[in-house]
Amino acid sequence: MTAALADVPVSARQVLRSVFGYGEFRGQQREIVEHAIDGGDALVLMPTGGGKSLCYQVPAIVRHARGQGVAVVVSPLIALMHDQVGALEELGVHAAFLNSTLEGEEARQVERELLSGRLVLVYAAPERILTPRFLAMLDSLHERGALSLFAIDEAHCVSQWGHDFREEYLGLSVLHERFPGVPRLALTATADADTRADIQERLQLQDARVFVASFDRGNIRYTIVEKDDARQQLLRFIRDEHEGDAGIVYCQTRRKVEDIADWLAAQGIAALPYHAGLDAELRRRHQDRFLREDGIVMVATIAFGMGIDKPDVRFVAHLDLPKNIEGYYQETGRAGRDGLAADAWMAYGLADVVNQRRMIDDSEADEDFKRQQRGKLDALLALAEAHDCRRVRLLAYFGETYAPAGDVRLRCGNCDNCLQPPATWDATEAARMALSCIYRFQQHSGFGFGAGHLIDVLRGKRTDKVLQRGHEQLSTFGIGAELGEAQWRSVLRQLLAAGHLRSVGDYNTLELAGSARAVLRGEVAVRLRVAAAPPARGRRGMRGGAGDAKPAALPLDEAGLLRFAALKAWRAEVAREHNLPAYIVFHDATLAEMAREQPLTLPALAAIGGVGAKKLEAYGEAILQVLKTAPAAA
Ligand code: ADP
Ligand code: ZN
Repeated sequence: MTAALADVPVSARQVLRSVFGYGEFRGQQREIVEHAIDGGDALVLMPTGGGKSLCYQVPAIVRHARGQGVAVVVSPLIALMHDQVGALEELGVHAAFLNSTLEGEEARQVERELLSGRLVLVYAAPERILTPRFLAMLDSLHERGALSLFAIDEAHCVSQWGHDFREEYLGLSVLHERFPGVPRLALTATADADTRADIQERLQLQDARVFVASFDRGNIRYTIVEKDDARQQLLRFIRDEHEGDAGIVYCQTRRKVEDIADWLAAQGIAALPYHAGLDAELRRRHQDRFLREDGIVMVATIAFGMGIDKPDVRFVAHLDLPKNIEGYYQETGRAGRDGLAADAWMAYGLADVVNQRRMIDDSEADEDFKRQQRGKLDALLALAEAHDCRRVRLLAYFGETYAPAGDVRLRCGNCDNCLQPPATWDATEAARMALSCIYRFQQHSGFGFGAGHLIDVLRGKRTDKVLQRGHEQLSTFGIGAELGEAQWRSVLRQLLAAGHLRSVGDYNTLELAGSARAVLRGEVAVRLRVAAAPPARGRRGMRGGAGDAKPAALPLDEAGLLRFAALKAWRAEVAREHNLPAYIVFHDATLAEMAREQPLTLPALAAIGGVGAKKLEAYGEAILQVLKTAPAAA
């Protein structure tokens, strides 16, 4: 145990305050921590950013202080261990990792520390833990009663249902068999029932207590805009709301990743590309810069993100539609782990619907699988087209009722639809025009046409193609002249999303689908959202939590923003000197609170969330100095 802890009574709450500098446990953390300290097994399901690490780190520290030895943390993400251990050492907690990146002598040194009982936590990859050498060391610790607990992180990796099954995880049942009586905590952000049951069975955690947190991410604001000029929309979004912030932009193809990254860079935004086609060294370098520098925008395929636990990603933008809501939620979940306001922003258009449908149709999978994929895509399209609260819909998809503080709500106050309820219009007539025009094509030409031609005919444009086909003679020619091209695209997209239309073949020909006839006969009314002008939200500095959603940081005034910038610059220095990501020195949330509260003394500084004893000692004076000398006006 280190000096910072030696003279404080060792309760969970004391550890939370003096080591981590946090005032209160979040949600179920306290119960989980106490259960583990008392020696119980647990399965913990919490969304990304929910605060899983503390659930095993606090018990590890408490049990170590009580002479119960070292905690073993199983983690599949070798790349992250270094940073996690660095973060613990920054807090004054003695920790180490054992993995294939260590040279022989370094590994021996860690092993000696481990056996000596000085280590509070040791991180290791599962394949490492299952080696005879490591197991023998654990035997020796176990015999002396010096194994405090096992934490199995990313526990869904044991399940074949999960999205990242790892063979080695199956071997982890040995922990229970070989070291009975040592408490085990399995933790994951993957919630579905199949995976959960699988984890319990394969890790023999049937008797463990199960803690399920709400999957709501109250600090994330969901926005889905209609694609118009996607690049410009993205640029405007970044410039207006996230200048200088770290973020991730997801694109579907490698080529698009590179295009967008180049283009953003040319607009003066610190953007880097990341996809599986780049060579490993370059990928590593880009990832490193994203983690270590402030304000990098990573433009990436979904190959990027797993195991990125950078807490201050301020936005996740989608330029292409994900495959389903699971993917969307996982990807957007990478924003705002630190609990501060963050944005999940997506631009979506007619071509997205067509492309995603086609990818499913063209895949090699069997019909059952395709049907399932189509169902999942439809759920995502319904979310995109929704007029009501996105959060309520998202949580409902995962089987959860939105009920903050116990009472059920139908709106969250922190999504685009809640903040600016979209106007809708009765589009039944327009829908009937479009559908009947498609019907006429079939009658007149014997086959169908794509959206562009359809819109030309509806709007009465005498293009070469229209004249060639004789479509200016159709009774539907020009009947939709009052609507603009963009409006028609929006109508068609929403008809596709609702399943009244489908698009087929290489030319994306539009055909009537199941429910089209009911619309044509006037039995089904169609209400569509008005193609909205982008909401004017303006530059927001550090945005506060809005509406009913969980309050994030209080906003900073201008002088506060200057102090915040000065603190960030200081932090970047320190991070470079220590070769650690900036967020490990202090989180944005902590710096923002310092900037707002302007503490003048060390005790006042210690009261800021995220300032523990060790960090106060190491950085306290320097921070007070920065606050004293920060400019008061630009
Ligand atoms: P997860 O592993 O569940 O994605 P983390 O353990 O990385 O989440 O925690 C997310 C963030 O929340 C971290 O930055 C962590 O320091 C912070 N955090 C966790 N618990 C608390 C708490 N009780 N009070 C304040 N901040 C917390
Ligand atoms: Zn809402």
